[in-house]
Amino acid sequence: MKPAPFAYKKVRSLAEAVALLGEHKDARLLAGGQSLIATLNMRLSAPSLLIDINGIGGLDGIAHKGGAVEIGALVRHAKAERSDAVAKHAPLLARALPHIGHAAIRNRGTLGGSIAFADPAAELPACLLALDGEVDATGPKGKRTIKAADFFKGLFETALGPQDVLTAIRIPAAGKDTRVGFAELARRHGDYAIVGLAASARADGKGLADVRLAFFGVGATAMRAKKAEAALASGNVDAAVAALDLEPQDDVQATGAVKKHLAGVLLRRVAAQLMEPQ
Ligand SMILES: Cc1cc2nc3c(=O)[nH]c(=O)nc-3n(C[C@H](O)[C@H](O)[C@H](O)COP(=O)(O)OP(=O)(O)OC[C@H]3O[C@@H](n4cnc5c(N)ncnc54)[C@H](O)[C@@H]3O)c2cc1C
Repeated sequence: MKPAPFAYKKVRSLAEAVALLGEHKDARLLAGGQSLIATLNMRLSAPSLLIDINGIGGLDGIAHKGGAVEIGALVRHAKAERSDAVAKHAPLLARALPHIGHAAIRNRGTLGGSIAFADPAAELPACLLALDGEVDATGPKGKRTIKAADFFKGLFETALGPQDVLTAIRIPAAGKDTRVGFAELARRHGDYAIVGLAASARADGKGLADVRLAFFGVGATAMRAKKAEAALASGNVDAAVAALDLEPQDDVQATGAVKKHLAGVLLRRVAAQLMEPQ
């Protein structure tokens, strides 16, 4: 299928993008196009204007500063995947990125696009939640920062306003006690996950503290399993699996019951990763 006709404008500044979003209420921002163009081609969306943000300078950097890793919205998945700073200071992202689609998709898709799109089966929103990260956005009233826990509101719905441009994400840099774990089950490598789990914790003696488990593919947004987190922190993996209070719905990939079973399988795998020195 072909998309409905649309106008196209490549902007050079955030101010220009924000102003155009104000003038054209049904306009859409175009980053890597790896999700947006598919929705246009399937006519799930028919914006009158695409605002291409790829010409805005300063949104494609990866920086380790002030105890955090900041990644610009226009950083491609492939660039982050090859980044030494991500490998060293953001190991959960380094584990998750290779699971996003295929190489061709990762060459164009952006981290900002993935977080803004907020697909419930996507890897990066779950990583952001597991890491207690945050999002920078610029809109008509200027710049603001939104915690991951407040950012993902519902199915493909975020805290971004209609004139907001996501400019960067920020996560705490890994320290010597940081433990991370990641696993997903997909029909084929590169497919969206049936169920996935991104996790972080802190080594605490022989155990774990500050355990954060963010499941994806099990609801309208990535979601934490707080009762299982508490059980895992006390060192009891069986109790953590038993405490999983997810209630996934059936979807085209699997029934809710299968997803819940798979979530338990993933939790055991990720718990083993968290308990290994890293
Ligand atoms: C075959 C295939 C398989 C895929 N598999 C996976 C997968 O396994 N896991 C996964 O996570 N993703 C997957 N993707 C999607 C891919 O990761 C996309 O790159 C990502 O979801 C969107 O990033 P993008 O830069 O391409 O955004 P675009 O497609 O350009 O935009 C997506 C949406 O976000 C908005 N947007 C983009 N950037 C911004 C911004 N800076 N501020 C505000 N709004 C913005 C756009 O307006 C649009 O609504 C797959 C895609 C394809 C085609």
